[in-house]
Amino acid sequence: MHYISTRTQGQGAPKRFCEILLEGLAPDGGLYLPAHYPQVDAATLGRWRALPYADLAFEILSLYVDDIPAADLRAICRKTYTAEVFGTEAIVPLKRLEDGLYLQALSNGPTLAFKDMAMQLLGNLFEYELARRGEQLNIFGATSGDTGSAAEYAMRGKKGVRVFMTSPEGRMSPFQQAQMFSLLDDNIHNIAIRGVFDDCQDLVKAVSNDLPFKQHYKIGTVNSINWARLVAQVVYYFAGYVQASTADDQQVSFCVPSGNFGNVCAGHVARMMGLPIAQLVVATNENDVLDEFFRTGRYRVRTSADTHETSSPSMDISKASNFERFVFDLLGRDGARVAGLFGKAIAQDGFFDLRADPAFAKAASDYGFASGKSTHADRLVTIADTWARYGVMVDTHTADGLKVAQYHRQAGVPMVVLETALPIKFASTIVEALGREPERPAKFVGIEDLPKRVLVMDADVAALKAYIVAACA
Ligand SMILES: *Cc1c(COP(=O)(O)O)cnc(C)c1O
Repeated sequence: MHYISTRTQGQGAPKRFCEILLEGLAPDGGLYLPAHYPQVDAATLGRWRALPYADLAFEILSLYVDDIPAADLRAICRKTYTAEVFGTEAIVPLKRLEDGLYLQALSNGPTLAFKDMAMQLLGNLFEYELARRGEQLNIFGATSGDTGSAAEYAMRGKKGVRVFMTSPEGRMSPFQQAQMFSLLDDNIHNIAIRGVFDDCQDLVKAVSNDLPFKQHYKIGTVNSINWARLVAQVVYYFAGYVQASTADDQQVSFCVPSGNFGNVCAGHVARMMGLPIAQLVVATNENDVLDEFFRTGRYRVRTSADTHETSSPSMDISKASNFERFVFDLLGRDGARVAGLFGKAIAQDGFFDLRADPAFAKAASDYGFASGKSTHADRLVTIADTWARYGVMVDTHTADGLKVAQYHRQAGVPMVVLETALPIKFASTIVEALGREPERPAKFVGIEDLPKRVLVMDADVAALKAYIVAACA
């Protein structure tokens, strides 16, 4: 399998999986995608029904990874997807709310959010590939919550990898701070910056823009555009499908709480592989960049002043970093056109409009996309309603998914709503909706009292670089 860039115009040699594993964007600024989508027929799907999750992951990854020996790849999958780490043998069990409506649990990993599903695999792939190359990697990032902690829990104790994670001092919830700062592994460096999240991001940019420093200190990232993260997410669409269906040609729909379009993009890939998905419903919060596109054909990135801080904060985005992948497929994989839209129109005008393009109608008709938006008030009602009706407590992001799913259910087609986090991570909104605290999984009882390690620094590039240099010595 070869990988090409969404902005490819014929130049540049196609790459293999392990070459793009440790890379971010393609050199032309595009995102990597496989040169084609391997097809899975009904007979194969039927055979996969009986597989444990780790072996299903191996089967799907094998279609995309041909530069890791099969036995090694299988071992990596089995080491990653264990009941011990993800809480159940099923790994991503389906919970029936009522006939035709399900929640798929993706948030029982170490940080209680769906990002663990991909990040845990990434940690093991990184360790494997770095050892094979005899290289080191220093992951340097900025977080306001979920991504940073998922990355740290995936990379803790891994050989060849260090993590330097900046976060705005005092801005994360006490639970999130406790989760991250109680990691005492030598290779994990928590750095609280006196400032806001944008200051942290500016520091990451400043360090990444210093190319000699970046190369010498092997600075990398784990952001959501990484193809390995995406392909890891494809697996749970297959696992959700086989649980929600009884026949191998039955249609099933998914509703996905979305921000950067990473999660639902994996659903798109699964559908392109032939998985019988009727609809992929994109649920947004007040930051409705994606809902606007699927309703109108207009994709308009927001300024930071125009980006709302909401009670489903992991979906608070100004642009959807993975969206370019879908547009590449929608436009018949025309890399020159994608480069014009994302490289030029967005940079110059901040938007593009496909309303007049016949391809736009295909997003719904040929690719199964639908969308909707949910607000704080919707979230509160949905959390209360789901609790009253089914006795199930959902987090704020999952509530956005459930709210939007209601408008897109079709008779005879099961609707699977992806549960992207557990309520305990967003306790204050749960209290607002239900007047009671969410329950806390046993392993998180008392984490606020654990010893913590965090370094507090000013937003000073030179000081940060000096810290990295010292830690790598
Ligand atoms: C990251 C995240 C999302 C959004 O996922 P994308 O892949 O960015 O669309 C939704 N819910 C939760 C809880 C998250 O952490």
